[in-house]
Amino acid sequence: MNTAPGAPVTAYVALGANLGDAPAALRQALNDLGTLPHTRLVRASSLYRSAPVDSSGPDYVNAVAELSTALGPYDLLAGLQGLEQAAGRDRPWRNAPRTLDLDILLYGELRQDDPVLTVPHPRMLERAFVLLPLAEIAPTVVSAAQLLKVEKQVISRLADR
Ligand code: ATP
Ligand code: CA
Ligand code: CA
Repeated sequence: MNTAPGAPVTAYVALGANLGDAPAALRQALNDLGTLPHTRLVRASSLYRSAPVDSSGPDYVNAVAELSTALGPYDLLAGLQGLEQAAGRDRPWRNAPRTLDLDILLYGELRQDDPVLTVPHPRMLERAFVLLPLAEIAPTVVSAAQLLKVEKQVISRLADR
């Protein structure tokens, strides 16, 4: 599972938080992403605010980051989980409020489905809070038709990052 780093791949990571100072947690996480081994933060979206879906608690703050990484997909996931832990995340129940959630949306052209890692992220196309920030930084990756499907979801741009 721990593969040696290879050629850099473009990966997109979704960031979300809805506990504590969520904008601060996301800004910290955006910085931290660039400190993962063999990884560079290429660009980051604005911060967006949306009400929780299938969940409870305060509004979510979301963003998407583009990384260039030579980490393999499982090592990248492990790195993201390390950042979640460092942000004080625990998992009391599914979809519980959280201080930081980091999901891999896309990892190059990789397509795979296993219990540890499914890429592309299986629910990304249902979520305005993923597609809007992704479209902001990678307009060719998200189609107009995909944006149209989530247009009824209430989401607002909160701030530059
Ligand atoms: P959702 O996946 O619907 O956004 P979630 O982010 O709340 O839900 P978590 O509890 O954070 O779900 O993660 C559950 C598991 O999902 C993780 O332990 C991880 O192994 C797995 N997983 C599968 N695919 C991915 C992915 N693309 N990015 C991050 N985690 C993933
Ligand atoms: Ca998630
Ligand atoms: Ca997650």
